[in-house]
Amino acid sequence: MTRIHRIAAIPGDGIGPEVVDAALIALDHLSRQTNAFRLEVDRFDWGSERYRREGALMPEDGARQLLPYDAILFGAVGAPDVPDHVTLWGLRLAICQGLDQYANVRPTRILPGISSPLEGIGPGDLDWVIVRENSEGEYAGQGGRSHRGRPHEIATETAIFTRTGVERIMRFAFTLARSRPRKRLTVVTKSNAQRYGLVLWDEIAAEVATEFPDVTWDKMLVDAMTVRMTLDPKSLDTIVATNLHADILSDLAAALAGSIGIAPTANLNPERRTPSMFEPIHGSAFDITGKGVANPVGTFWSAAMMLEHLGEDEAAARLMRAVEAVTADPAARTPDLGGTATTAQMTERLCAALDAKD
Ligand code: ATP
Ligand code: MG
Repeated sequence: MTRIHRIAAIPGDGIGPEVVDAALIALDHLSRQTNAFRLEVDRFDWGSERYRREGALMPEDGARQLLPYDAILFGAVGAPDVPDHVTLWGLRLAICQGLDQYANVRPTRILPGISSPLEGIGPGDLDWVIVRENSEGEYAGQGGRSHRGRPHEIATETAIFTRTGVERIMRFAFTLARSRPRKRLTVVTKSNAQRYGLVLWDEIAAEVATEFPDVTWDKMLVDAMTVRMTLDPKSLDTIVATNLHADILSDLAAALAGSIGIAPTANLNPERRTPSMFEPIHGSAFDITGKGVANPVGTFWSAAMMLEHLGEDEAAARLMRAVEAVTADPAARTPDLGGTATTAQMTERLCAALDAKD
C-alpha cells in the first residue's frame, strides 16, 4: 500500500520558488522510485507579490487553511520593496504562531566535501542541533510606539516568557538531547542582564533537568556561547535558546558549517495537533534570484526532515545519503560552495545519486 501524504508548498519570494521546486523534483523522484509513499502537493502563492496585489501576504484565515495538511514545505519570504517586519509577521510568523509550531529545530553539521571556515574542523567535529523557542519570548509581538517622530519618541518591545512556554521547549530539548548519542544539552540565556524572563528560563531548566538524570547539561550566556561555538565546537551537542538568541546562533552555526545555503529548519508542533513546517534557514536572497544558482541543499535537507516527520524514515535517510553524495562531488557544487553548478544541475546530480545502488 502506498502511503499518501498531503503537502502544502509555500515557495514564497526570491529564491524560495527555485529551491522549493528543486526539492519537489527530488521528492517526486524518490516517491516514484520507492513506491512506498506519494505526496499530494498543493501550492500556495502567498508572499510579497500577493501583498502588492491584495495588501496581505496570505489570507486572514491562512493558518486555518493549512490545517488539513500533513506537513508544509516553505521556501523564503522577503522582498526589497516590502519592509522586513511586514513580510516576516505577515507570513512566516503568522503560520508558526498560528499553528503553534513552538519548537524550531536546526540541525547543523559539516556535510562531506564542505569546508568550515574554522581551521582543522571537518565532518564529525561539529554536530549540533539548535532548538529555538518559536512561539513567544522576544518575538511575542508585544510593545508599541508613542510620540512618533518627536524627540521623546519611545518604542517598547516586550519579551514574554510564560512558564508553560518555557517548560514545553525545555522538555522538548531535554528529550531531543536524550535521543542523541552524547546526551548533552547546553541551555543558553542572558540571565545576568535579563533578570526576569531569563532567570525564569534558568529556573525551569534546573527543574526540568531533574526529569532527565541521564542528560548532562550546562548553562551558557549567549555572548560567551558565540565564542564557544567558534573556538570549541566539539564540546557542544544539543543547544536550546530563546527565540531571538537561537535565531542569531543558528546563523552563526550555518556559517561555521560551510554555507547558509545548506542549513535546514523544522518548525514543529511536537504533539502533532497541527501541521509542522519545513524550510531552509536562508532568506529570499534577491541578489541571486533568477540566476539559477541558488543552493538547494538546505531545502533538500529540510525535505528529508519532513519525510522523517511523516514517518518515512527510510526515504529520509536515502535522501540524506544522496545529499551527502552531491556535496562530496566538487562538480555538483553551486557558487556559494565554490563550484559552478546551477540549481538544476545539482538537482539532477541528486536524482542520479538517488538512483545509485546503496
Ligand atoms: P532575509 O532577509 O529573508 O534573511 P536575505 O536576502 O538577507 O533574506 P539571506 O538568506 O539572509 O538572504 O542570505 C544572505 C546572502 O547569502 C544572500 O544574499 C545570498 O547571497 C546568500 N545565500 C543565501 N541563501 C543562499 C542559497 N540557498 N544559495 C546561495 N546563496 C545563498
Ligand atoms: Mg538575512
